[in-house]
Amino acid sequence: MSSLSGNIISKSAEILSKYPLCSRCLGRLFAKYGLSLSNIARGNAIKTLLLMELHRLIINDVRNLSLLKGISENVGVMPQLISKYLGSTPNEKKCYVCSNTIEYVISKLVQDMVSELSKFKVRTFIISIRKGSEIERRELEIVSELNLDSWESIRRELKRELGKKVKALLDIEPEFKHPDALVLVDLDTLNVKVTTTPTYILCRYVKLGRNISQVRWVSKNGFRKYPLAVEDVVEPITKSFNAEKLQLHAVGREDVDVRVLGNGRPLVIELKGVKDKTVSVEDIAKNVVHSDLILTFFDRYIEHKHLIDIKSRRSSKVYRLLVLSKKPLSSDSAELLIREFSNRAVRQRTPTRILKRRKDLTHVGRVYDIKVMAVNEYLLEILVKCDSSLYVKELVHGDGGRTFPNMAEVLNSELDLLEVDVIDISY
Ligand SMILES: [Zn+2]
Repeated sequence: MSSLSGNIISKSAEILSKYPLCSRCLGRLFAKYGLSLSNIARGNAIKTLLLMELHRLIINDVRNLSLLKGISENVGVMPQLISKYLGSTPNEKKCYVCSNTIEYVISKLVQDMVSELSKFKVRTFIISIRKGSEIERRELEIVSELNLDSWESIRRELKRELGKKVKALLDIEPEFKHPDALVLVDLDTLNVKVTTTPTYILCRYVKLGRNISQVRWVSKNGFRKYPLAVEDVVEPITKSFNAEKLQLHAVGREDVDVRVLGNGRPLVIELKGVKDKTVSVEDIAKNVVHSDLILTFFDRYIEHKHLIDIKSRRSSKVYRLLVLSKKPLSSDSAELLIREFSNRAVRQRTPTRILKRRKDLTHVGRVYDIKVMAVNEYLLEILVKCDSSLYVKELVHGDGGRTFPNMAEVLNSELDLLEVDVIDISY
């Protein structure tokens, strides 16, 4: 054997003297060597060359017959050569790794993948093979026992081979980063499961009315607190995608009595259990409920990481406020407010009205800009540009001093907030 030491042939002889292997499972152990070869071609080539080499050694010295004998039941090719020298046809053993089932496994999995994927409308897919199957365990046993460093795993080979066949049969593309469909394979049970990745749509809503919530708000006794929600309007788009579930991820939230004007509030709609991943953005709106009070605009599809990014971004808002004073205001009220609140840090304790739901904390928000118009001596129309985290209602009435500074204190009058509108959200 010394003449064969240290190369592919000698290593293969060492493996095959212990383990019967089909050509694919042998070829896979040397996948690092030889370009543009299938593992079957690789395995066949190794077996052929090994037997040719053994033949040469036997011709030179018949004592080398033991080498041929050692692998005769494990190699599975060239039975004539073996029977010529050993006197009988070898009792061929089944592949230690796959029990000669690998070709069946591949064709069965392809068939099931095509049938399962056909239930969905997808453009891209990725195949994932569950780790830790029996077949993989046996492969690893050989790899570690013989200290091989040239192999590729059966999971990797199957993902590639199955992927090629599915692509050709269904005309859909393998995609590793953002696939439409995930095909999960269990090699022990040969079970194939297809799921789709969630669909995320970046959109905006404009709320032209008041007493409209973002999501449906149902009280404990089962009655709706507000008759209309943004969710009501967009929920039917689940039909367009043949989806199971819809979830809204809004970038912030306004109080129900606050309108959202201008370009509206960004909103990401997440759809789960989607059967159709091929809906164009233009077609999404077809199933939206028509509403005079809520307008929706669908901008584009995004990935999950963009959702996290959008939600974590600090944004600023412009509010329009209509403020009524209990007593007549002095003529310099507008000036006072502008002087006090232009680019001003405002310290706020959690508003009394939400103390039941939130911890009592102090946070500092900033007013960037303010414009004030006195409609008459009682009524002010105010535009405020501020951090989106600022509680603007409390900025006006002061919440019993919990927000400082506040407009009521600056104007030395009790202030009533008649209307609040968000007119711009930048994020
Ligand atoms: Zn095999």
